[in-house]
Amino acid sequence: MPLIPMRVLLDHAAANGYGVAAFNVNDMEQIQAIMAAAEKTDSPVIVQASRGAREYSQDAYLRHLMLAAAELHPRLPIAMHQDHGNSPATCMSAIAQGFTSVMIDGSLTEDGKTPADYAYNVRVTREVVQAAHAKGVTVEGELGVLGGIEDSHGAGLTGDEALKHLTDPAQAGQFVAETGVDALAVAIGTSHGAYKFSRKPTGDVLVMSVIEEIHERLPNTHLVMHGSSSVPQELLEIIRQYGGQMKETYGVPVEEIQRGIKHGVRKINVDTDNRLAMTGAVRKVFAESPGEFDPRKWLGPARAAMQKVCEERMIAFGQAGQAGKIKPKSLRSMVTFYAKKAK
Ligand SMILES: [Zn+2]
Repeated sequence: MPLIPMRVLLDHAAANGYGVAAFNVNDMEQIQAIMAAAEKTDSPVIVQASRGAREYSQDAYLRHLMLAAAELHPRLPIAMHQDHGNSPATCMSAIAQGFTSVMIDGSLTEDGKTPADYAYNVRVTREVVQAAHAKGVTVEGELGVLGGIEDSHGAGLTGDEALKHLTDPAQAGQFVAETGVDALAVAIGTSHGAYKFSRKPTGDVLVMSVIEEIHERLPNTHLVMHGSSSVPQELLEIIRQYGGQMKETYGVPVEEIQRGIKHGVRKINVDTDNRLAMTGAVRKVFAESPGEFDPRKWLGPARAAMQKVCEERMIAFGQAGQAGKIKPKSLRSMVTFYAKKAK
């Protein structure tokens, strides 16, 4: 089937009480890993690309790789999402490339680093919602500022600074009403990248209660957790064992994500865990077979290692077994849906 609007997947997830992992991609092996995991677990798929990924892979390669994924897996519903659009222009160029969902991150200004004020966020988000919904495309917004930096995106906040920028539940209600976003990324103390927490996160650094409060106020808005890799210690260990250097770090425990899913979290962004898995697998091949020079001999194991992480997350988030139950909708039918909603 053709790529479908992300909202269709999130609505089904909400109606059936599960979450969907959104995995970042930059190349063919990563897309293949996600699709193989989805095929094996019968999962709906959200593939997302950051601005950096689009630049690295080039839009045309990415578009055709995603069309290949849809062609090879006709049974699976797949949404293609722009991660952290920094401006309406970025979102519109993604839509022109066939993305079925876009994130406009107006919590930061166009440089992707400087925290923006509320009025700016509402203004750019509304602009994207109007343009995207006219084409049936899903929109994710963000309120509050996430910590850490990834793909040169993020305010670089850590520790106490990040805790000052948590999403305010009352403002979240106002923001959704004023912008009409389908999904909302919330800041609850998580950050991008591998170095999220210097100790196992507890309630004072990972504020899950914010999610519960937002969900109470906005039961019909799909919540998104960014920076939600779990940074498994065993993946760090493999990298260290084969000569890599990883400092002590902790991610978001899968149990905490499952708690979020009980309170309205429908999309969970996972990137770092896949990066760690691929890097460990490549290091292992190079360490054990220093004479190896066929890229398939190290890209293949990297792809398999990522597939394993994807399968584990799909099962943990509850999306496994759901693909066949989802009734796909076209972008065109979503145009009608949004037009009715606006009346
Ligand atoms: Zn993010």
